[in-house]
Amino acid sequence: MNLPLAGLKDERSKIKVKDTILGGKEIIIIGGPCAVESKEQMRSAAKAVQEAGGKILRGGIYKPRTSPYNFQGLGEEGIAYLADAAEEYGLLSVTEVMDEQGLEAVKERIDIVQIGARNMQNFQLLKKLGTVKKPVILKRGLSATIEEWLYAAEYILAGGNKQVILCERGIRTFETSTRNTLDLSAVSLAKKLSHLPVIVDPSHAAGRIDLIPSLAKAAIAVGADGLLVEMHPNPAEAMCDGAQSLTPAQFRELLKELQVIGHGVNRELYLPLEDTGIEPLRKRINLIDRDIVQLLADRMKLVRRIGKHKNPEHIRDGKREAEILQKLESWATEVNCPAELLQQIYPLIFDCSIRLQLKGKRSREAEYVI
Ligand code: PEP
Ligand code: MN
Repeated sequence: MNLPLAGLKDERSKIKVKDTILGGKEIIIIGGPCAVESKEQMRSAAKAVQEAGGKILRGGIYKPRTSPYNFQGLGEEGIAYLADAAEEYGLLSVTEVMDEQGLEAVKERIDIVQIGARNMQNFQLLKKLGTVKKPVILKRGLSATIEEWLYAAEYILAGGNKQVILCERGIRTFETSTRNTLDLSAVSLAKKLSHLPVIVDPSHAAGRIDLIPSLAKAAIAVGADGLLVEMHPNPAEAMCDGAQSLTPAQFRELLKELQVIGHGVNRELYLPLEDTGIEPLRKRINLIDRDIVQLLADRMKLVRRIGKHKNPEHIRDGKREAEILQKLESWATEVNCPAELLQQIYPLIFDCSIRLQLKGKRSREAEYVI
């Protein structure tokens, strides 16, 4: 595959939307109905998403339906139902737009825009998205190759908008027992070929609720950074995609199971704490501290190896230390970590690193003398 790419860079992109980071260690779950139907429906959906541990509320306002006689979405009336419900429950919001007018209409109130499978190669729209400051979830087209999908993302990136999240949602194959065929290799490959976060939509892939939990778990195991799952407060009454919509209880159960799978691949899915007391919070802190110790140990291992390549006269490199601190400060602001904490901790880490390198040199010299 011969991609250019504005999309290629050394490290993975993390996309920060308010306090939520897509593409980091945390698995981000998007939940909500296929279509926004009413204010009440969106409030119950938002409550269910928040209580289960989801971070983003979805709901289609403009629905790209196969038949013109099916429900086409509430249009602009739905924007406030989605945005208000998300705000009330501290969630982000995402909705699909099909054209520039739609984008203009939702831009102010909705946090993330989705480009649906049917519009993946709507190049005019992709170019427009390149010029706005909005994160975009770009779904893979129904019959698009991975290359075509990444080139579509490239249109947005090349226009200057770097906040693109890829979403695998199943492709059309000869198989008819499922609505589409979920292409899990595409998740691994898209993560290899690009730096962008990749999420999976098991709902539109399967088209039936019984398969969604296993596909969702497989997606996390294969490295997806998040999931987009259809969940309706009352699937039997849904105006769109009821057969693939989980109930709030099924959604909650699924997230618990996903947390376990996540741990197996070194990812976190933070479930709301059932007990808001001190103990569950301390347990979480213990896990984070363990990670910090492991990371420091890894850092020191590398430091020792670097020591072997250094000139004994120039073990300390002040310029490099200043560069590291500068980078850390900018990462810290991205994730709301107090910069002064790093300013205090890092000089200690640098000192310890230098001591280890000097010690390494001395013990090698001693070996030599002997
Ligand atoms: C949707 O997410 O509501 C949707 C229509 O999905 P897709 O574009 O993947 O069919
Ligand atoms: Mn749907």
